[in-house]
Amino acid sequence: MLDVRGIDVYYGEVQVIHDMSFRVRKGDIISLLGSNGAGKTTTLKTISGLLRPKNGGIYFEEIRLDKIQPSSVISKGISHVPEGRRLFPKMTVEENLMMGAFEKSLWGNRMQNIRNVYNLFPRLEERKDQQAGTLSGGEQQMVAIGRALMSKPKILMLDEPSLGLAPNIVESIFELLKELNGEGITILLVEQNAQAALEISDYAYVMETGKIVLDGKAEDLKDNVYVKQAYLGL
Ligand code: ATP
Repeated sequence: MLDVRGIDVYYGEVQVIHDMSFRVRKGDIISLLGSNGAGKTTTLKTISGLLRPKNGGIYFEEIRLDKIQPSSVISKGISHVPEGRRLFPKMTVEENLMMGAFEKSLWGNRMQNIRNVYNLFPRLEERKDQQAGTLSGGEQQMVAIGRALMSKPKILMLDEPSLGLAPNIVESIFELLKELNGEGITILLVEQNAQAALEISDYAYVMETGKIVLDGKAEDLKDNVYVKQAYLGL
């Protein structure tokens, strides 16, 4: 479904992604694991069109994503929940959710889509007029995910959704991802919490200094000695 082929990505003169290739199969949950600075966030930003690869290409159902605008990437069916949620703290919950349907082609369905988000997160409907910055961390993560769902994505990309959340909240976020996947949304998950990510994933890639160094079925990676030592603390 998503095919990242040999991308090189730079910040100015500095190359941070080196000839990186990976694939996301329709219906799967795929994890991208790796330590701080490995290049996971950069990879998601490049798929979203916020950064451009210098070489290589990104293909989604045969459409060349790295040649179109970020707003068009969203309307093609790829949605991004950024690291640190990136909400507008002074805006209400509902206004933040509506930002997920900012692209013109999505306007027509936004009332139906916000209904779906409220059905998924009744707490957000209760707090729809509250400023997003006053919510708890877990609720803010719900808003960030809800905002990404406003465009009815085929692929949902999430950057460290567990960051800074209490363990019971992390568990409910991961259960939610499984539920969304069960409804047909393909998931590309960036996580430092490798244990939790591998529990729900079908397949995973491990990144180090801008390269994929290992990949395999999630169940196999859980038993891999290197993954155990480097990421699972075993
Ligand atoms: P983290 O989990 O800490 O977010 P990551 O795997 O997502 O790590 P990236 O944030 O993609 O890693 O960073 C990859 C490399 O690019 C790092 O060496 C980082 O210092 C560098 N980098 C990230 N953003 C910028 C930027 N805006 N300008 C210059 N270098 C950057």
